[in-house]
Amino acid sequence: MTAQQSSLVKLQNQIQHIADKCHRQAKDITLLAVSKKHSANKIQTLYQQGQRDFGESYVQEAVQKIKDLNQPDISWHFIGPIQSNKTRLIAENFSWIHSIDRLKILQRISEQRPHHLKPVNICIQVNLANEAQKAGCVPEKVNELVQQTVLLDNIALRGIMIIPPKTNSYQEQKHWFDQAHKLYTNLRQSHANIDTLSMGMSADLEAAICAGSTIVRIGTALFGPREY
Ligand SMILES: *Cc1c(COP(=O)(O)O)cnc(C)c1O
Repeated sequence: MTAQQSSLVKLQNQIQHIADKCHRQAKDITLLAVSKKHSANKIQTLYQQGQRDFGESYVQEAVQKIKDLNQPDISWHFIGPIQSNKTRLIAENFSWIHSIDRLKILQRISEQRPHHLKPVNICIQVNLANEAQKAGCVPEKVNELVQQTVLLDNIALRGIMIIPPKTNSYQEQKHWFDQAHKLYTNLRQSHANIDTLSMGMSADLEAAICAGSTIVRIGTALFGPREY
């Protein structure tokens, strides 16, 4: 087994272990392999081990890899910042977008989504702590954006995505993820199709899973340091 292959097994075991510890089912947690700045070869290796969800942050780089790999059963997730002039490529190439934070971008994607594809799955990125430098919709605006989202064609609203303030403290990580879970639970009460809470990265995986994450986005712990 290569180092990378054993990283996947290790991570799957770790998710299982954390799930056991906080009384959750590992099958309710999807592992999104964040492959930004890693080669198509590395993606192929994980694909052969059965990994099907991959996350990318840079449109040009991602589209090239999607073409090179040409695997129709990979689910590609876009998780990076979105500029208006890139929405068409995103609408054409991805089955999920986690980083929606404003209506204008979403309207373009709704119009540009090719009709032969299923509606694109959307998470609204929430800037929980109102951090000035961070993307995301502020918590007070989430409800309004949700109301607008459900009216659009070719869009399936699935939930919210969180990147919490950076901290090494488990307690602080858990605090932010608990807040995210509360917001998620509230949204689910009025929107039956919402089933996704996208949170947890290499450094805060455990707190995220214990707070109820349904998709964890892992790059470094799987692939090592980014290559370019
Ligand atoms: C890069 C990235 C990740 C993965 O981060 P790691 O720390 O490498 O696990 C997760 N989510 C988003 C939005 C990212 O940009």
